[in-house]
Amino acid sequence: MARILLLKNADFVVSCDDGDALHRHTDLLCADGVIAEIGKDIRKAADVTIDARGMAVYPGLVNTHHHLYQTFSRNLPRLQNLELFGWLKASYQIWKNLNEDVALYSAFTGLGELLKHGCTTCADHHYVFPKGAGDLLGAQFEAAGRLGIRLHAARGSMDLSEKDGGLPPDSVVQSIDEILREGEAAVAAHHDPAPFSMRRVMLAPCSPFSVSAELLRQSALQARALGVRLHTHVAETKDEENYTLERFGLRPLDYLEQLGWTGPDVWYAHGIHFNDDELRRLAETGTGVAHCPVSNMKLSSGVCRVPQMLRLGVPLGLAVDGSSSNDGSNLLEELRVGYLVHRLSSSAQAPSGYDMLKLATRGSARLLGREDIGVLAPGKAADFFALRLDKLAWNGAAFDPLSMLGTVGCKSPADLTVVNGRVVVENGRLTGVDEARLVEESQPVLRKYLAGNI
Ligand code: ZN
Repeated sequence: MARILLLKNADFVVSCDDGDALHRHTDLLCADGVIAEIGKDIRKAADVTIDARGMAVYPGLVNTHHHLYQTFSRNLPRLQNLELFGWLKASYQIWKNLNEDVALYSAFTGLGELLKHGCTTCADHHYVFPKGAGDLLGAQFEAAGRLGIRLHAARGSMDLSEKDGGLPPDSVVQSIDEILREGEAAVAAHHDPAPFSMRRVMLAPCSPFSVSAELLRQSALQARALGVRLHTHVAETKDEENYTLERFGLRPLDYLEQLGWTGPDVWYAHGIHFNDDELRRLAETGTGVAHCPVSNMKLSSGVCRVPQMLRLGVPLGLAVDGSSSNDGSNLLEELRVGYLVHRLSSSAQAPSGYDMLKLATRGSARLLGREDIGVLAPGKAADFFALRLDKLAWNGAAFDPLSMLGTVGCKSPADLTVVNGRVVVENGRLTGVDEARLVEESQPVLRKYLAGNI
């Protein structure tokens, strides 16, 4: 991290703050990873000075749901054209062979792509822990540290295999005792609750159809005792709704609520099939939803009720979801796809391009329980990305920088990404790793892991 980093003469700095401030022709000063000042003609000796003339600067995007390990099982013909339950059953036959090398290189790849597209904080939901696979969370944090991205890693879990009526095979589920023990160890090893933290841990049983009620109840108690957040998949498909209705006589939210799974420390991935009453309860309890438009379209899951959620005040963020159900890790793309899908389904009620940007920044930060990221203002983390506006793609489109990432969409990597005051993407390339070497080193790991599936 540069102790003092000074950005000079940015055409625009989009703050996403409470007053929606748009700073024009301005400087931005960062000290020790924190924004110290935004204003004109700041004169201060800096370790790193960047000429930002001709650039638009945005708060770093925050991804609220990912499965980084899936980066190495994407675009496989046998996994195309399936819906969630069938897709999961087929995918477990690959995922059961996960190991530390796959976790490391897939994290480098997925996190690297996120950074290159302006995402500066990622929440990952890792829930597949095959016996003897090694330190999978440790591998993810190693990649995040080298690349320079903030990582919130879930110690996910599954205890319900096929023989108990769940979807995963026996070899990837664990006992509740093992899960609780390893969850506590993960928090002790990696969780830093301090402001401006680069690494946090949450507890995240996978979904109502792969974990038991007892694991959900115990995980909620454990997370609150340890002071960490709770995350799971909910209301992603009608199949899930039918599963909880048939098995427990309850809709998914009723089922989770009785197990302690609502509140401002909880957020769900997807949240598509909620009815009006359930949306009101989410707003009242402050329970959040990670909206994953590309994945929801790919798996034919449905359209999240974003306009209604925004109207009611449901905490809402944006996410890419795992790479197998997205085939990429580009949160900028979600911003535009989300904008378009709600235009299609909700017309005038749809969120604007700027609404989508705020979902991806301050909205997502709220889901992760962070007040130090998602906004560009003094006292907030020095996490941002910048785009050069003198490119053909923006010619004639940059009069409204607030909405253009949603309406026009950004098809190329960010020109600059900074996290915690450190330049992590420069001229569209990662600074923490050699990208070509990373791809080369990944090949033997990838081919061994996918043997028989490609
Ligand atoms: Zn997911």
